[in-house]
Formats: sequence, structure tokens, C-alpha cells
Amino acid sequence: MHWDRVAATALSGTAVPRETLLAAATAGDDELLALLDAAFRIRRHFHGRRVSLHVLQNAKSGLCPEDCSFCSQSARAASGVDRYAMQSVDELVAGARSAARDGAHTYCMVTSTRDPSGRELATICEAARRIKSELSIRLCASLGLLDAADALALAAAGLDRYNHNLETSERFFGEVCTTHTYAARVGTVRVAKAAGMEACCGGIVGLGERPEDRVGLALALRELGADSIPVNFLDPRPGTALAGRARLSAAEALRCLAVLRLANPAVDLRVAGGRETVLGRMQPLALFAANSLFTRGYLTTPGQGLKADLEMIAQAGFEVGEVHRQ
Ligand code: SF4
Repeated sequence: MHWDRVAATALSGTAVPRETLLAAATAGDDELLALLDAAFRIRRHFHGRRVSLHVLQNAKSGLCPEDCSFCSQSARAASGVDRYAMQSVDELVAGARSAARDGAHTYCMVTSTRDPSGRELATICEAARRIKSELSIRLCASLGLLDAADALALAAAGLDRYNHNLETSERFFGEVCTTHTYAARVGTVRVAKAAGMEACCGGIVGLGERPEDRVGLALALRELGADSIPVNFLDPRPGTALAGRARLSAAEALRCLAVLRLANPAVDLRVAGGRETVLGRMQPLALFAANSLFTRGYLTTPGQGLKADLEMIAQAGFEVGEVHRQ
């Protein structure tokens, strides 16, 4: 495959077709650098060499009633993660101040839940109003399934984005979760967008899905018009149903990022959980496809830390900055 021609196709505004994405998802390791170079041409066009940093706040931990097989925050998993109820508005505002001090582009408040209670929604909305009155940081929240009224309330409170991941393909979703449907996830992304928020919507790879499932996820995100795509690599958590699963190779994880970039050229593509453990010393290569990172760790696992992230970004020839679409 001439990956430089595929990049040119994407840059011309023509959607890269499913069969080409499948070829990318199954390309051999000898093609990895050519594939990443194609992804980089697209990334550079839309985002230059800038990297936007996002910080997560685990606003309610370990109490989710759902049964997503990879998730240590499901109350059904014996994962030993911290369990606590919704944080206070003051705690959420303090988290935003800390994220802003560290140069974060976006601060995301996350609750482990099927959907937000009225009280939780009110807490997030009040925190959002206070943060927006004080800081210029962009705001996102991830609170599970939403209805239209919830989405409108969050948008009115000042949320720029709402996160709700599809996680995997429609075909494979039933293998991952039985307590809610893929359609419910799609519906939440749609109501968030309809309310005027950007859609942050991605997934997790390494669950045992096939290459065509990764392509299916990439295409579904394209169809939904995701503005931001966080990509998690399974870092098997003790006590979860996938505790014994082997991690992806670094090359496979990098191929997934390239597929998502080819399918969604302009999107804000973010490397999420599992970055350090799956990519190891190959981490900097992820920046050639992705333009964004979560820094300071993930919801229940630590990352390498802000200092190491900043050093990695600089050493790889990138710079921390805003995201600008051209
Ligand atoms: S809905 Fe979210 S928090 Fe709950 S188990 Fe699934 S991934 Fe985890």
C-alpha cells in the first residue's frame, strides 16, 4: 500500500474507504513507519506539532453499576480501586485550578455511573459555572448516559465537551458490556452534540476485538462526527473480567492510532489509558498520529507524570499548545 497516497486522499477531503483502513489495521510491522508517516502528514496539516494536554478528575470512583469487562470502576469488579461518592463543588473547582496551573488545555470531570443523578448533575453544573467564571480552561465531563434535558443543562452551565465513548465496534460491544447497549451510547453522543457541546468519543482497544472491529469503531466515530477521540489501550486490571488478557504490542497500538487518524483526519486524537504500559519506549511515536495526551495519569492508574510527559514532548520535537483546526 502506498500510504503517502492514502494521506493525500485524506488531505484532499475524500474519506479513506473501509478496505484501506482494514489494510492499515492489518499492515505488517515493516510498514509501521510508513503508516505512521501518513498519519503524521495528516496530523501536521491540522494540528502542526502541537500537543494538547488534558487532565482527568475522578469525581466519583468505583461505584458504577454497569458491567463493562475492562473497567476497574464497575462495582462488580473486585479491583480494589478507591470507592467514593460524588466529590464536592469545591473539590472539582480545586481540581480545575490545579489542571490550569499545569498548563492543561482541557479539564474533564468523570463519574463512574450509568447516568447522572439529579444531584450529581447539579454538582457538575455548579462546578462548571464556577470554573468558567474563574478560568479559561476548556471543560469536559463524562457522566454516563444522558437524556436531552441533562445535555442542555450541562451545555448551559458552560461545558465545552461531553465525553461518552463507544468503546468498540457495534458488533463486538455485546462481548464487552451487557447492562446497556451500543445504541444507548450512540444516542448519548447525539444528544450531547445536539445540545451544542463537542463530542469527545473514543474507545478502548486490546479487548480481544478483531481488526475489523477497530475499523468499525473508527468509521462509527466518523459517522457520528466525533470532535475528539480518546484511545485507551487495555492495561488489564486485577479483579476485572479481562485481568488475564495480554497487552497489545506497541506496534499494534500505534497501528490503531494511525487507523483512527486516517479515518478522522481533523479530529483531536488523544492517547489515553495504557499509554505508558502498552507503548513503553515507543510512546513518542504516538505523537506522530495523535495530537493530544492525558497527563498526570488516568482515573485509577498513574501515568509517568507531567514532568516526564513534557520532556517526552520536547525531545520528540513537539510543543505543548492549543489545538487549531484549519
Ligand atoms: S459505564 Fe463507564 S464507569 Fe461504568 S463500568 Fe462501564 S466503563 Fe466503567
